[in-house]
Amino acid sequence: MSPLFIHKYGGTSVGSIDRIRQVADRIEGVVQAGHQLVVVLSAMRGETDRLLRLAHEITSCPDERELDMLLSSGERVTIALLAMELRARGLRANSFTGRQVGIRTNSAHTRARISQVTTGRVQEALANKMIPIVAGFQGVNEQSDVTTLGRGGSDLTAVALAASLKADRCIIFTDVDGVYTTDPNVVPEARRIPKLSYEEMLEFASLGAKVLQARSVEFAAKFGVSVEVKSSFIEGEGTLVKQEDVDMEGAVVSGVTGDRNQAKLTVVGVPDRPGIAANLFGQVAHASILVDMIIQNVSQESLTDISFTVPRNELTPALTLVQRVAEDIDAKSVGVDAEIAKVSLVGVGMRSHSGVASRMFQALSHHKINIMMISTSEIKISCIVEEKYLELAMRALHEEFGLQTFPDA
Ligand code: ASP
Ligand code: MG
Repeated sequence: MSPLFIHKYGGTSVGSIDRIRQVADRIEGVVQAGHQLVVVLSAMRGETDRLLRLAHEITSCPDERELDMLLSSGERVTIALLAMELRARGLRANSFTGRQVGIRTNSAHTRARISQVTTGRVQEALANKMIPIVAGFQGVNEQSDVTTLGRGGSDLTAVALAASLKADRCIIFTDVDGVYTTDPNVVPEARRIPKLSYEEMLEFASLGAKVLQARSVEFAAKFGVSVEVKSSFIEGEGTLVKQEDVDMEGAVVSGVTGDRNQAKLTVVGVPDRPGIAANLFGQVAHASILVDMIIQNVSQESLTDISFTVPRNELTPALTLVQRVAEDIDAKSVGVDAEIAKVSLVGVGMRSHSGVASRMFQALSHHKINIMMISTSEIKISCIVEEKYLELAMRALHEEFGLQTFPDA
């Protein structure tokens, strides 16, 4: 049997007819080389956002079933256009919706989870030497209603098909050539990371690197699918995301990330008694606001301050809610700081190297950057700093951990 490849092309790669033709060129090459290929596409760049805006012109809170019906249309456009282009070249290709390729999900509209993938239709197409062009991001629930898999969900479609079809390679073509040690716009010395573990990739994704949807990485980890992220515009290697291996631990730190989507709320003068934190964070969680870091000060005269961070784009609803809860629990006031940012170090090497945190704090203090909050996991250390120092912090840490050179260089 000839090897089976899954190719996924993101919104920029199919953003115009010219770009779709470039994708077709690549597909032609792969097929001519004798490989079997399943293609997964995103909607044209900006299309899903445009559809979302239309929905919000109708109502500020559109029905989620209807949203999925609307948003899933973007991918139907690109799959049909690419199939037409391939057919015009005399190649055998058919487009398929998520439902047609058997992506079954639960009913959590706009963020559905895949429950089953039955790839009969794809296999049939492959057996007939047909190239299946699959709409990413969409599935179907038990009632046959269209669902979507969360923003960036085409990556998940590709990984799920790769797992289910036991594909030999799963390549995500995008507008960057992989994951970098840090943002090259901030640190020109940043370099592409050739190999990352699933865990590291998840940290990068949760810290704002948008190259792969986080859930697709979780799925890949669960089913052991290796995923390559590559540029669809320039030839060359990308970043391979796979099971951790021994040489990954060689580097102390794999990368530095910066995230400006951060804001800090401080509830001042909170009565220090059992149940208060549970009440406060219970209500915040109930409103689906994601709290990241939390600090409680040492209490004085049975009053304490509790500070925590939320995504800056959720600050308004978070503040309204927290002000209400603060009144409920007899706190004195609520303070806001939206001019903060988070700088983080990620690397599986941290498990086997000690002193990473202290080196990080020293490097920041050397540049007179004050650390407002700290959080750590086994493979990540994050610090909240003033936003105006974020880029300086990223540069300082990139240099401190020698990320401009390969670990074995
Ligand atoms: N079109 C969807 C989005 O913009 C899915 C994807 O592109 O992966 O989120
Ligand atoms: Mg994407």
